[in-house]
Amino acid sequence: MKDDNCIFCKIANGVIPSKTVYEDENFRIILDLGPAAKGHALVLPKEHYANLFDLPEDVAAAAFVTAKKAAGMIYKNLGADGLNIVQNNGAAAGQTVPHFHIHIIPRYENDGQKIGWVPGNPSDEELSGTLSEILAKA
Ligand code: 5GP
Ligand code: ZN
Repeated sequence: MKDDNCIFCKIANGVIPSKTVYEDENFRIILDLGPAAKGHALVLPKEHYANLFDLPEDVAAAAFVTAKKAAGMIYKNLGADGLNIVQNNGAAAGQTVPHFHIHIIPRYENDGQKIGWVPGNPSDEELSGTLSEILAKA
């Protein structure tokens, strides 16, 4: 299914042009217009899924395999020193476009980017409580 109001549906399906790194029947990988680093790319399924939770398992598997292939090409050909795979779900997690996508972000020594988090310091009891919450409804 495509969503007529979704910009990534339009880009993935070629209705809006993009700098395409890779395309097949199910995915298009494009250069991000606001890259965190040179070569920052986005893996877009051609079908509309808002986020990871809506994604069928076979599409999730194929998306990651596709991301791996493009990540290798980008990393090697741009001479990157590292690479982050990032995938945001929900506004609270930084998702701004509600069409599932995987970020491929090549990294360079001293590129000045910060992609990470502030580590917490939970007690063993807190970790056990978290684990019980997760598993209670599994
Ligand atoms: P999110 O924050 O949802 O995980 O990531 C959205 C990404 O899409 C951002 O990195 C943003 O720069 C990129 N982006 C938003 N609109 C466009 C567009 O029209 N074309 C391209 N190529 N990238 C876009
Ligand atoms: Zn869409």
